[in-house]
Amino acid sequence: MASDPHSRLHTVGTLVRKSRPVDIGHRQLLEGPFWQRIPAYRDVDAETFEDHLWQSKHSITRTDKLFAALRELVSDAFYKAVEEGLARSSMSLRLTPYIVSLIDWEHPERDPIRRQFLPLSTEQLRDHPRTYLDALHERAHSPVEGLTHRYADKVLFITQDRCPVYCRYCTRSYAVGLDTEQVGKAHINARSERWDQVFDYLRQHPEVEDVVISGGDTFSLRAEQIRLIGDTLLDIPHIRRMRFATKGVAVLPMKLLTDHEWFDALAGVAQRGRKLHKDVVVHTHFSHPSECSEITQRAMNRVFEAGITVRNQCVLLRGVNDDAEIMRLLVRRLGYLNVQPYYVFQHDMVRGVEDLRTALRTTQEIEKSTRGHTAGFNTPMFVIDTPGGGGKRDVHSYEHYNHVTGISVFRSPNMDDKARYVHFDPIDTLPEEGQALWADHALHDQLVADAISKS
Ligand SMILES: *Cc1c(COP(=O)(O)O)cnc(C)c1O
Ligand code: SF4
Repeated sequence: MASDPHSRLHTVGTLVRKSRPVDIGHRQLLEGPFWQRIPAYRDVDAETFEDHLWQSKHSITRTDKLFAALRELVSDAFYKAVEEGLARSSMSLRLTPYIVSLIDWEHPERDPIRRQFLPLSTEQLRDHPRTYLDALHERAHSPVEGLTHRYADKVLFITQDRCPVYCRYCTRSYAVGLDTEQVGKAHINARSERWDQVFDYLRQHPEVEDVVISGGDTFSLRAEQIRLIGDTLLDIPHIRRMRFATKGVAVLPMKLLTDHEWFDALAGVAQRGRKLHKDVVVHTHFSHPSECSEITQRAMNRVFEAGITVRNQCVLLRGVNDDAEIMRLLVRRLGYLNVQPYYVFQHDMVRGVEDLRTALRTTQEIEKSTRGHTAGFNTPMFVIDTPGGGGKRDVHSYEHYNHVTGISVFRSPNMDDKARYVHFDPIDTLPEEGQALWADHALHDQLVADAISKS
């Protein structure tokens, strides 16, 4: 029927396509006073909720405060599981009211946002014997405290150790956040003498063109600190690119709307960079499509209007985003908000989060289901940051992968052509035969040696 616009759409020219269900779910963002579902925020109006100072002041850092905010919403058994879970965790507790409001407290056990920040003793699994506190050996490649120089032309600068939230799975749990019962941290403060040492090192290393300013988190830096870091780096002639890394865009988007001094500092550095033909961008960290709300959209619009590129990197997390449909929704929603999906990381081999790690083959499957869904430049690379400091590798590029033992072996000729970098799938995802092999400690070294010999 020529008058039916839909049938025409599908028969334009010689291209006849099967009609597909129209899929625009990624454009449907949470709006309205969704936070009023939380007992403590019942009377909070939009203006207050969008005030970044109110968000910071009401951020939750202790379980008793969390329980006071939620009141009757969750059960005593849940409270108990959180307290026990935190006692065994490497990361301290910190949540913004925004994130608390996005969690479905009717079903917190299976909520993908809750899983990222609040450990439950009932779901924790025993660590793989090959997990480490600093799995990437960042401190071994560190010429100055808080600066990792692993790649030829780029460095990672950890400005300080605070974030607006603390993720259970943080790969920098050796330093980021407050001490926990499990981990006494290598504290990295925003000390200006240490920053001066970092700047001196960069001035003396003309091969460095690219600085990742991370942490810790750019949202935890004051406006004048953003300007200091930005201007100092822009003044070093060979530095061509910098990225301000922040989880804040995902967990505290209102800061971009209401902290004008901070926003102007960032936009000012980006603008000055453009005049100098240098690239100043923001890298952020959305893990699940539900973290994007209508507030996020307004925040991203403001950033886009300022001409600042935002890219996303996240971790593939079991029970959070290890599902092809969720990943596709995340990727399309981010593209819709002008955030470019950049990396999805295989979970690092860190302690205390075995229940969040996925098998490498799961990550490969999700990559296959994601690629081809939307614009290629909005499709992330799925990478593994190889344990032991081999750097990032495409998850499909292993030399050897044994699905029974869960051991995969990677090569990184840029780093060291002879070295082999080994990753281990979570034991509970292995077939019974593989689980039995890992149950015998005496076999472990041999399993690894066998895998390396086949690579
Ligand atoms: C990831 C990383 C970088 C940046 O790498 P890109 O692939 O360019 O995003 C720089 N330094 C270190 C130590 C890193 O881990
Ligand atoms: S925001 Fe980033 S650095 Fe901070 S705790 Fe989370 S993963 Fe770690």
